[in-house]
Amino acid sequence: MNVLDSELVLGQLRAHGYESVADRDRADVILYNTCSVREHAEQKVWSRLGELRDRKKADPSLVIGVIGCMAERDGPSLFHRFPEVDLLCGPGELDKLVGLVHNAAISNGPRKSARQVALMGAAVRRSSTLAAAEDHLELLDLSRSISPGDDFSQAYVRITRGCNKFCTYCVVPFTRGPEVHRPPQNIIDEVRRLADAGAKEVTLLGQTINHYAFVHGDGRTTTFAELLYAIHEAVPHLPRLRFVTSFPRDFTDEALAAMRDCERICRYLHVPAQSGSDRILKAMNRGYTVGMYRDFLQRAREAMPDICIASDFIVGFPSETEEDFQQTAQLVRDCRFKNSFIFKYSPRPGTVAIDRFADDVPDEAKRRRNGELLAVQQQVSVESNRQMIGKTVEVMVQGESKLVSRQSTYPASKVELGWEQRGAMNERTTQMIGRTRGDLVVCFDGEQSLKGQILDVEITDARNLTLFGRAVVTAGVE
Ligand code: SAH
Ligand code: SF4
Repeated sequence: MNVLDSELVLGQLRAHGYESVADRDRADVILYNTCSVREHAEQKVWSRLGELRDRKKADPSLVIGVIGCMAERDGPSLFHRFPEVDLLCGPGELDKLVGLVHNAAISNGPRKSARQVALMGAAVRRSSTLAAAEDHLELLDLSRSISPGDDFSQAYVRITRGCNKFCTYCVVPFTRGPEVHRPPQNIIDEVRRLADAGAKEVTLLGQTINHYAFVHGDGRTTTFAELLYAIHEAVPHLPRLRFVTSFPRDFTDEALAAMRDCERICRYLHVPAQSGSDRILKAMNRGYTVGMYRDFLQRAREAMPDICIASDFIVGFPSETEEDFQQTAQLVRDCRFKNSFIFKYSPRPGTVAIDRFADDVPDEAKRRRNGELLAVQQQVSVESNRQMIGKTVEVMVQGESKLVSRQSTYPASKVELGWEQRGAMNERTTQMIGRTRGDLVVCFDGEQSLKGQILDVEITDARNLTLFGRAVVTAGVE
């Protein structure tokens, strides 16, 4: 979501004559788009801001802005901690950012008093009408500039904003405001414009994306399943359509049928489970039991036996016992996830959990559980990845593998991660990286010009995070 917001903000600034520079030291305006989900993400922002202190002292005309969830959550108190910051802009107000930047730039002269501006709105949106929120939030997405020259091989399209679930640990409902669904026609138009400009893969975005339901003026509702069918039909020249993140409780059979019926919708789901203990799920306010989660996976796999499923887990949630944790490890063993994102519980100010529960799992135990769960997932991933050896998969090429760019500094990692696979290559060939429809990472030798293309790769080896293979066709493939 933040990647998309950054892209939209950059587009707006460019349209107003601003240019992006590769080197931060040459920038006149520096904006940090921030995340508040875990404390660690916020700490990174504090340290980046710290790095700018001396420069701002030497050059007061430098404009420093903090945008996104931290701006929304901290509000003007952020100015007290960092008086060097000129502007704050919450995620729901980004359509007005250009004006704020402009204002900061012109008032950074002698009249310093007018300098600092903060614009937030999630709380206001909760108390205003949803219709007003919808109109207002739509502006940023509608402003997107899409031209054929841009690199849109992979693109994001938002379909919902905000969240109404209020999981007890999570800041999102407070920073991004109430759930608002975008009109289906606007979504379809945006996907079509991206496909016209050369997009090969569009990922639809929403915090609980399968909860999408747009109520039209005449009372008719477009469901998530109907939206998927409509995009698939209206944009036949888009090879891949995917979506994140799904909420386990809200998946209808119709939405699974849409995935099964539409051949260009990728058979990939990211459905965070968060815990394998019913007691912890209840304390998290997730609204489902482990049994309901397992039933959902069974339904999904019955509809699409080849589906790849990824999950998220929080370890060390308040009061989590060793037994609760072992139930989570068992869930990971049983569910055969493609991968899991595992996080240590981070108490967030403003959430129910921080007020109601003591953060009583020691950090050492959180770290150990994190490592143990990762090891369980790695075992599952290696086993399922090795089953891919010998198969030919369709890969959308994202670019050169980072292993190649890092080779001179990290010689050990290239061996560990399969560099020895390289074999004989001509000068224009390098190690490329891409993803299957199921979101599995594939490395293979190929030319850099393959970036953005879709081609077949035969899998020859597999590790825990990556498959290795050889391109069946290496040039001129669309
Ligand atoms: N809307 C998505 C998740 C958004 S946040 C969903 O509900 O699935 C992404 C992930 O961050 C979550 O799935 C959760 O695993 C993790 N997360 C959120 N708040 C956290 C916290 N306070 N501490 C640790 N992890 C957290
Ligand atoms: Fe946060 Fe829960 Fe909403 Fe996901 S569903 S964004 S975890 S409140």
